[in-house]
Amino acid sequence: MLNIVLFGPPGAGKGTQSERLKEKYGLVHISTGDVFRALDPESELGKLAKSYSDQGNLVPDEVTIQILESEVSKHPDAKGVIYDGFPRTTAQAEALDKFLASKNTGVSMMLSLVVPEDELKTRLIARAEVSGRKDDADPAIIQNRIDTYNSQTAPVADFYDGQDKLKEIDGVGSIDAITQRLFEAIDKN
Ligand code: AMP
Repeated sequence: MLNIVLFGPPGAGKGTQSERLKEKYGLVHISTGDVFRALDPESELGKLAKSYSDQGNLVPDEVTIQILESEVSKHPDAKGVIYDGFPRTTAQAEALDKFLASKNTGVSMMLSLVVPEDELKTRLIARAEVSGRKDDADPAIIQNRIDTYNSQTAPVADFYDGQDKLKEIDGVGSIDAITQRLFEAIDKN
């Protein structure tokens, strides 16, 4: 199985690039952020997720890991999966390793999109116009998402680096140029 962790801070282009990787390699795309946004906002789980995501905080690991595992289990015949926005903590990365090992597979690589902070903020503010996402519209929440990424999520790259699976990709440039960089990194593997 080709299991790709597509990594990077908010606004790095993970969602956009995931669509392209999915098409080219015939993968299932799982975005935990999309799964949370699709929950019934009146359900207990929906309310819980929203109380964190609207503020730009991480949903607790226990809930997120369960959601991820149930999402992966919906695709037993997948050739591979793009993990977009997961894992976001080292505990989530450890849980993913365990879960995939139980299916006799593992993470193939982490592709980490590298984008400077100023550029992320510009992109997120522009995205708010079309996404309608509350967490894209408010500069203080954007800052909290970036700070959360730096403190809690960035260490996940070290986790995969320790397994020799980290590939850093320049995430600045045209969408097509970045897609080509990702394709090259996957094809070289
Ligand atoms: P995203 O669409 O990836 O930007 O995620 C939107 C929000 O959903 C995040 O700010 C978090 O509140 C929540 N979220 C998504 N994925 C995770 C995750 N792996 N762990 C914890 N919270 C998450």
